[in-house]
Amino acid sequence: MKRRAAIACMLAAAMLIGTCVMQTHNGAEEELPQREATRTTETEKLSGQAQIRQTMHFQRCGHQVERRVKAPDALAGADFKQVSAYYDQWLIQSMEKDSLVMERHIDLYCPAHVIVSMDHTGQVVLAENRYGDGMAILEILDTTPVEEEKRRMLLAGMGFDNREEAVAWLKMQGIIQ
Ligand SMILES: [Zn+2]
Repeated sequence: MKRRAAIACMLAAAMLIGTCVMQTHNGAEEELPQREATRTTETEKLSGQAQIRQTMHFQRCGHQVERRVKAPDALAGADFKQVSAYYDQWLIQSMEKDSLVMERHIDLYCPAHVIVSMDHTGQVVLAENRYGDGMAILEILDTTPVEEEKRRMLLAGMGFDNREEAVAWLKMQGIIQ
């Protein structure tokens, strides 16, 4: 019982940290603090044939996306320190001669969503996560003046399954006609 309570506490603390990051940075690309790698041979060097498995955890929607790529040629022969410096946005989970496993927490929606957002000039836009860690504007919308409370919601970004749902929500809010 004691142990379960301790785990619950840790989870609560982790969620609090996550919330702080999101509130402070308000939808911008941001990572949780880096942690130490879990399984790594410090003396290992990467071969020229190494495969990389990258897992991106998208915190706004809870989805995760995994991709496998070949290690860049520049990293052939690199040690753990050099690999870590090269992937400074990532947590290296394990590194062996032919395999590199890493993950990253990204404070955005994943590429599967249409995001209603507001750009820096105050225009309401539809956007999508096109690069994993970067948003692209799909469409600028004609809107009525947006009141402060809704502006804040838009600045943080709202994710929908598709354009129709995003537009229906904007109409319901009276933001577009
Ligand atoms: Zn998603």
